[in-house]
Formats: sequence, C-alpha cells, structure tokens
Amino acid sequence: MRRIAILGATGSIGKSALDVIARHPDRFEAYALTANTRAEELAELCRQFRPRLACIADPAAGPLLRKLLRDAGLKTEVLTGAESLVEAATRPDVDSVVASIVGAAGLSSSLAAAHAGKRILLANKEALVMAGPIFMDAVRSGGATLLPIDSEHNAIFQCLPPEGGSFRDRGVKKVLLTASGGPFRLRDRSTMHGITPEEACAHPNWVMGRKISVDSATMMNKGLEVVEAHWLFGATSSQIEVVIHPQSVIHSMVEYADASVIAQLGNPDMRTPIAQVLAYPERIDSGVRSLDLATIGTLTFERPDFKRFPALRIAYDALAHGGTAPAVMNAANEVAVAAFLDRRLPFLQITTIIEETINRLGALPLQSLDDVLAADLAAREHASQLISRVQLSAA
Ligand code: NAD
Ligand code: MG
Repeated sequence: MRRIAILGATGSIGKSALDVIARHPDRFEAYALTANTRAEELAELCRQFRPRLACIADPAAGPLLRKLLRDAGLKTEVLTGAESLVEAATRPDVDSVVASIVGAAGLSSSLAAAHAGKRILLANKEALVMAGPIFMDAVRSGGATLLPIDSEHNAIFQCLPPEGGSFRDRGVKKVLLTASGGPFRLRDRSTMHGITPEEACAHPNWVMGRKISVDSATMMNKGLEVVEAHWLFGATSSQIEVVIHPQSVIHSMVEYADASVIAQLGNPDMRTPIAQVLAYPERIDSGVRSLDLATIGTLTFERPDFKRFPALRIAYDALAHGGTAPAVMNAANEVAVAAFLDRRLPFLQITTIIEETINRLGALPLQSLDDVLAADLAAREHASQLISRVQLSAA
C-alpha cells in the first residue's frame, strides 16, 4: 500500500491524481490532501477519500475546514498555513508526494519532499525552473526519486533507456519536446492584442488550471518545459528541440545516435502520466480510453514560430544565461499572467514584461535557496512596477 500526499489536491492535476487513486484502493491511500483557500472543496474531497491529514495554506480558511470535517464526522487532522504543506510532504508515513501546486508557491513543499527522500511525482514544473540545481542536489542528497508528471517529460522518461548516465553513454542524441501550439497557433500576431482570458484559457486539447492554460497560449509553458527537461534529464539546450504537433497524441520523443526516434503516444489525458508515475515501475489502469489511431487519422508537425511566440526564445536564452535567469523569468511570468487573468495587462504584454524584467535583473550566480528567493522577489517587484506603468499609460 503506497501512502500518497497530494499537494494541490483541489487543482486539475490533484483531481486527476485522486481519480486514479480511487480506481486502486488496494494499492494507494490518499494520506494527506492540501489546498490553498477553498475549504469547502477540500472538505468534499476529505469526505470522499478520508485522508489522515488535511492542510490548508490560508490560515483564515482553517476554522471553516475544521467545522466541515467535524460536521461530516471525520477524524482527519487539520493543519493550516504555508508550513503545513511542508508537513504533509515530509510525514514519515508518506511514501509518494504528488507535487501539483501551481507556481513558486509549490517550491518549499516540493523541496522538502526531496530532502525527506520521498518519491516525488512532479507536476509543479515552476519549482524546477526556479531552483533547478538546488532541487536536483536535494533529490540526490535526500535519496529521493523524482518522476515527472508533465506529459512531455513523462513521455521522454518512458522513451529513455532505464539505466542512468549521460546522453552520450546512453546513445541519446536529443529529446523532441512536442507542443500543441495552443489556442493561437494559427493566429496572426497583429490580431493578438485584444485576446481575453476566456480565449486564452480555452485550450484545444487539454483541460488545465488557468495559469498553465495562459502559459500554453503564450508558449511560455513550452519554454518552462525546455528548462524542466534540462534539469530532469541533463540535456543541454542544443539537445532539446521543440516540435509543434497540434493533435497532442505524441507526447514527446527521444532520438538516438542511430537516428531511431522513440515516441510515447496516448490520448491527451493527464491520468496516463499520473498513473505511470504512481505505479512505476508497474503499470495500472488509468481510466483513459485506448488511443483510436484510425479515427484520429492524421498526425502533423510544424516548426515553432519564435517570432509570433517570443516566450520560447526567451526561455532558451534564460537557460543559456543560467544562474538566476530562469527564476527571474518564472517570477515575471507568474506576475504577468496573474495581471492578464485579472484584465490588468494585455496578452501581448506578458512576454514584454518577462523580457524587460530579465534584461533589467540579468543573471546572478545561483548557489543557495536564498539566491533563488531573492531573484524571485526582485523579479516580482520589477514586473509589478512595469505592469503598473502599462496601466497608467493605458488610463
Ligand atoms: P490548478 O490551478 O488547477 O491547481 C493548483 C493547485 O495548487 C490547487 O489545488 C490550489 O489550491 C493550489 N495552490 C495554488 N496556490 C497555492 C498556494 N499559494 N499555496 C498552496 N496551494 C496553492 O493548477 P493545475 O493545472 O493543476 O497545475 C498544477 C501544476 O501542474 C502546475 O505547476 C502546472 O504547470 C503543472 N501541470 C499541469 C498540467 C495540467 O494538465 N493541468 C499538466 C502538466 C503540468
Ligand atoms: Mg506539459
């Protein structure tokens, strides 16, 4: 029986993970569930899954959560505050941690799981983008196992040979990261200015949280994933190629020295990679229907357009600069995406804000978690200032 902590249980990935767990009560126990502010939703999940521990980051939501669980006759222990997420991630009884909080808010709990030597099932790509070398050191020194949930990285993980080592030792030439191209793949840049949050969040193939949906629309999601692939697999930027594949059926590929290309395919449903990492190295039912290739008929591929989608170029540049540049990029993106979702920033300005923030703050050496947190804070402040200037000039 594997005891699982789900950080971000009320989110899109959290709920998909619970869906898989519910199919295998003989294998998995939802030991701890966490949420940010939504006490009612977390209480509903507790009624369904009866975890030992429920954590809510917002202390103000604690009393309501306690009352709802008491009313339901549950003995679930309740903890509140940001530190409670770390507690859920490190409890000795917990075997695997589904790290599915969105954004930098997931860093401390993901990192704590690494230090505690857990099996980390990582969806929270922002943690790795911000703090890549620190995170990977924590995984090594803590004796943790890091398994990727992000569909592309999960595909690459499945296509790589099981034994470790460098790409050269394993005969790997490069990874091919597929991207759907998002909702605006075919749209002319001159018509992108008035894009609304509703349009940006309507992804053609995937149903996801709002932040990652906007990231997919700007293609910053693929940019974050390039950095994620660098840290997860030790690939250099020239060993990571992005290919647009609008059907989202091939989730990514690995090319070997002999020019063989191995791909992983499946319907676009996150329960597949989640089930793969939950049961790894075994295989279990995910609830996802079989791929019907004859009905799909055609799989197509295109080169990414770095001019219409500058986010991808910005991310490759940030990876090349190294140090704190990816942390700055991530923080500026989070602030700009939140402002866009709040209708305080036009769509095309998201990448402008990110680029200007990186240009201003540059790349500092990254040696400690403090370096990461300082870069994150400085980037948030600078991006917020830039955004208020955009608003002033629009007023
Ligand atoms: P979501 O917005 O649906 O859910 C986010 C979860 O994080 C919620 O449970 C929320 O309560 C929690 N949360 C948010 N802010 C928090 C805070 N400050 N403190 C504590 N908890 C907080 O997001 P999602 O789409 O499920 O994405 C989660 C992560 O998985 C992201 O890093 C995303 O990039 C990654 N991911 C998602 C998908 C997908 O299909 N949704 C695919 C690949 C990777
Ligand atoms: Mg992905």
